Formats: sequence, structure tokens, C-alpha cells
Amino acid sequence: MKTQIARVMPDQYLEIPEEELVARIKEHKAELGERLVLLTHHYQRPEIVALGDFVGDSFGLSRDAARQTKAKDIVFCGVHFMAESAAILAGPGQRVSMPDLRAGCPMANMAEIEEVERAWSDLASIGRQEGVIPLTYMNSHAELKAFCGRNEGSVCTSTNAGPAFEWAFKRGDRVFFFPDEHLGRNTANALKIPRDKVVIYDPEDEMGGLSPEELGQARAILWKGYCHVHTHFRPEHVNRVRQRHPGVMVVVHPECTEDVVDLSDAAGSTEFIVRYVENAPAGATIAIGTELNLVQRLALEHPDKKIFELARSLCPNMFRINLRNLLWLLDHLGEVNIVTVPEAVASEARVALERMLSITAARAED
Ligand code: SF4
Repeated sequence: MKTQIARVMPDQYLEIPEEELVARIKEHKAELGERLVLLTHHYQRPEIVALGDFVGDSFGLSRDAARQTKAKDIVFCGVHFMAESAAILAGPGQRVSMPDLRAGCPMANMAEIEEVERAWSDLASIGRQEGVIPLTYMNSHAELKAFCGRNEGSVCTSTNAGPAFEWAFKRGDRVFFFPDEHLGRNTANALKIPRDKVVIYDPEDEMGGLSPEELGQARAILWKGYCHVHTHFRPEHVNRVRQRHPGVMVVVHPECTEDVVDLSDAAGSTEFIVRYVENAPAGATIAIGTELNLVQRLALEHPDKKIFELARSLCPNMFRINLRNLLWLLDHLGEVNIVTVPEAVASEARVALERMLSITAARAED
């Protein structure tokens, strides 16, 4: 009789001591060798990052995932849209799974394909769809990436949002960006797009809450979505650390609101923040506005610098991944928590993801 594998981690895993969990995960890794690759996002718990073959942000990990031609199994320790992107980029015979399928991203859930299609129709209804290039943030469902693939658009991450906007402006005269209003706003500001040419499309309202004139004259149409982890940071947090720590350098993620970005010394993707800390001189004091696990890890890795969080903000979805559900997944690899994307969606999404990778590759060669 075939053993039935529970879809949910059984309670017996709760009783395994941490040292044994780590030892058993390492045994799986040693046994599978190059057939297994463990990708871990920067916001993962430290004990998960310590076991990963690669640590990175969503852009770096999507590139790493695409390069893992020898691995049969790609285990993604991050949130669902990341594993979905890895599944789209995976080669034939490769499998992507994640330790907890409930690790989603609330921001990605703020833009559903039906809503984006409706916004697209709104633009058509006023005769202003032509020349609009859709760009979706990596933090989005596969259907949105597919939408961009079939409508001459691309995916971007916080690492390459600026180059992606510039790429779009070479192909059209307007950008429709979803689902993060704040990354869109901060990117538009960096590219010096006039404020009156940037509008916010609210999917809750008819025509996004915009008049045909507003929609028609906009150079950047930004979806009203946000990351609760990064919008937690407020200008008063920046002002407070500056008062308490004279000389402090403040670096934040561009999913923060623009008033926080404006008050900071620097803003950039997770990888940017990692490099910013690495390049700071010994003795530097740095307050970081991003997810708590990354800040705490950077503080441990750089004992010669004083590193702390701008305010405490943890991503509860990233936190869902732990040693227990990782071991459970590895014990039942290929049987549970496999992430798949229907080929009809994947083939169009792949076009948009590959455009993103080529935009960045072209920029690196400039
Ligand atoms: S940090 Fe924000 S954007 Fe990233 S997974 Fe968590 S909720 Fe989503």
C-alpha cells in the first residue's frame, strides 16, 4: 500500500530539537549534491540563510534559479511569487517547491489579473492604450507577468526598476506599473518625471478614480498597492534616529514611502542595502529601513559597524519558512508543496521575465 503523505506538516516535526533538524537537512543536501539547490531570500530567518546555496533578493535569486541547470529540485525559501518565477524559468525536468505554500505576499495579492485587465480596458475606452508599456513588479502573480509578456511589457525588481522604466520609455510614451505605488513613485522621482504626470490608479474605484484627462496625460500610471513591511517606516523614525545618533547614515528600501526615501541618505534594493553596508567605513553608524531579519544579519556580519533597524518591521510571510517545514519538505521532496504554473501562463510570463533579465544584462554591458 502506498503511504499517504500529509499535505500539512505533521506535529511530530515540532518535537525535533533544532540541532537534529539542521543535521538532517544537511544530510539531505549531502545526499542529493548538485541535484538539489536551496535558494534563500535575504529576509529569511538566519538559520535558513545559513543552509542556503544562494542568498539574494528576488532579482538575484530569479537569475540564480535560471542558471541551475544541473539541479533537479529547486527549493525556494521565500514567498510564493518568487517560487512561481523560479518555476517559470526552470528547465525541463526541474521541480520547484517551497517549505510552506501559505507564505504569500500581501502586496502581490493587491493586483489581480481581472483588475489589471479592467484598467487596461479603461485605457482603451478613452483611446489611450496605445503607447502604454505595462511593467509588473516581480512581487506579483504569474498571470500579471503573463499579461506583460503578451502586451510588450516586462517584469522588474527594485534592483532594476529604473532601467526597466527607461526601457519602457524607449518603446512607448507611458508606463503602467503594478502593484507597488511606492516603488513606482520613487522610480518616477529618480527619473525626474514631473509630479503632475504621475497618477495613482485605485482598482477599488471606477476608472481607477481618475478622469479621462488625468489617465490620458499621465506618463506613469501607478497601481495603488503597497508593502506593509516597508510602509511601516515613517519620517519620524528617520528624524528620531538622526537626533539620537548624530552622523548616522540612513538607508532604506524603495518600497518605503517617498517622504521616508527623501529624508534618507540612500535608497535601493535589498542587494543595494547589503553593498551599502559592506562599503561603509569601519565605525560607521547605519540605520536601515527594511525587513528585520536582514538588518539583524547585517549587524552580526559587520561587528565593526553599528547597524540597527530604523524601526522594527518583520515580514510574517517570509517568517513562515523555518527549519521544521524545510526538513519536512526535504523528507518528502517531489511529493509535497510543488509550485507549478500552467504552461499557457508560464510561456507568456517567461517572455516578460526574460525581457527583465536582458534589460539588466544590457545595462551591465553599457
Ligand atoms: S516584505 Fe513586503 S513585498 Fe516582501 S514579501 Fe513581505 S509583504 Fe511582500
